[in-house]
Amino acid sequence: LSKFRSRLNKGDSFLTRDIGSFFAAEKLRADALEDFETRLLMADTGIDVTQWLVDRIQTDINLGRIKNEKQLRETLKKALVELLAPVTEPLTIPAFIKPYILFVAGVNGVGKTTTIGKMAMRFKREGKSVLLAAGDTFRAAAVQQLTTWADRAGVPILSQGEGADSASVIYDAVQSAKARNIDIVIADTAGRLHTQSHLMDELRKIKRVVQKHDPYAPHEVMLVVDATTGQNALNQAVQFHEAIGLTGITITKLDGTAKGGILMAIAKRLSLPVRFVGLGEAIDDLEPFDATTYAEALIG
Ligand code: GDP
Repeated sequence: LSKFRSRLNKGDSFLTRDIGSFFAAEKLRADALEDFETRLLMADTGIDVTQWLVDRIQTDINLGRIKNEKQLRETLKKALVELLAPVTEPLTIPAFIKPYILFVAGVNGVGKTTTIGKMAMRFKREGKSVLLAAGDTFRAAAVQQLTTWADRAGVPILSQGEGADSASVIYDAVQSAKARNIDIVIADTAGRLHTQSHLMDELRKIKRVVQKHDPYAPHEVMLVVDATTGQNALNQAVQFHEAIGLTGITITKLDGTAKGGILMAIAKRLSLPVRFVGLGEAIDDLEPFDATTYAEALIG
């Protein structure tokens, strides 16, 4: 919790900054709700969630439940937990699925490689064996970067070099994981191809190919999005979900952004489990998402 609190938005919550000033003489100032609405919209919380939160506060004001800062915080916390509880569904890896095949998608720069490295470390600490598959074969530096993260996490990586066929790299990795009795294959995928439709076609092809190993694979299709890009993150989530069917999302860079509201916007729009949040650049800066912890950290 303390890491969440100090890192989210650099510890300066867009939701509750100066919230004490909303009150004058034991009463919520007349313009406070408008202030609050503006602040939510500026943080890319989106119209739907903003309206919903403001309505919740208004209801509690009408019921005489918000007379001071503490009560306002309580209302907010309850509302946030209600909003985000449905997307609190940690990634669980059942022992009977072996290898568990986790696809990681996301456009370049969002923190996909970093997130893969962080997850590999986390799974390894949980006592599971991990193999990385260097499926982002389009970008020159991608394989090298992923190899660096594999070394950091101390897990093996399977790659075939630049320009190789992504589906075949991932197919081989699953084959190899089976032979080596490895628990989890984390497959990196291209962050960009010649066109958007080409990218989505490739992701669908990779899906078909691993289903030759296991008809239920991939067991997780995770999209990584960058919170600092605000509305773009939401658009990417919608597009990828429509094209390939996501089963989870990881939201990175929540540490350095004033646009943290995008997490709520994505949660409300897509109702997809938020698996992890990225809170920094180091290998340990990845936390499983939990609505209550998040609300506590953001609102205090
Ligand atoms: P990729 O192109 O999607 O694979 O992105 P990378 O994993 O290479 O990350 C791009 C940049 O974002 C790097 O400088 C990372 O250190 C940084 N980054 C990744 N995740 C986080 C995060 O959670 N917080 C912060 N502050 N930076 C991050």
